[in-house]
Amino acid sequence: MAIALTMDDGPHPAYTPQVLEILRRYDIKATFNMIGAQVGPNLSLVREVSSEGHTITNHTWDHADLSHLTYHQVIDEIDRCNEALANANQHPTIFRAPFGNWSKAVYQACADRQLKPVAWSVDPRDWDTAHVDTQMIVHNVLAHTHPHSIILEHDGGGDRRNTVQALKTFIPVLLDRGYRFVAM
Ligand SMILES: [Zn+2]
Repeated sequence: MAIALTMDDGPHPAYTPQVLEILRRYDIKATFNMIGAQVGPNLSLVREVSSEGHTITNHTWDHADLSHLTYHQVIDEIDRCNEALANANQHPTIFRAPFGNWSKAVYQACADRQLKPVAWSVDPRDWDTAHVDTQMIVHNVLAHTHPHSIILEHDGGGDRRNTVQALKTFIPVLLDRGYRFVAM
């Protein structure tokens, strides 16, 4: 019944603390896939995420679409994010490709940097605020989560009020169903 909640595109000074508060309330752990360029201005927040037992991973330097980048360009994206995270004493072992755009170069770069590539299995498209509201996020997650699901949500990259509200709704329901949230 283990499932993973993954929060992409942070850290964000407004939304990441709200997500942390919800996770604290239910005493569950999540995985935060961070954009390197946002790490420097939010170092204390990065340390807070880590100290509360959540996993932090590499989500590139600036959320580049890696699908058309060369191996060396991909390595640069990965290294710059790693360097930013190192300033908060974080040394990730997991990588998530922006937009889920994986390529041979990306897999090779992950192997060379000893990063495990991790995708998702439940995507309620919470980032698409023009078309997806809170109820749709909740319904999608509750309809598609199974044992070992990896749920994709976002704490950065735009207005994430819907996401925050959805988390408050679906986390207790999934706990009631017997699921156990684990950080990757
Ligand atoms: Zn992303």
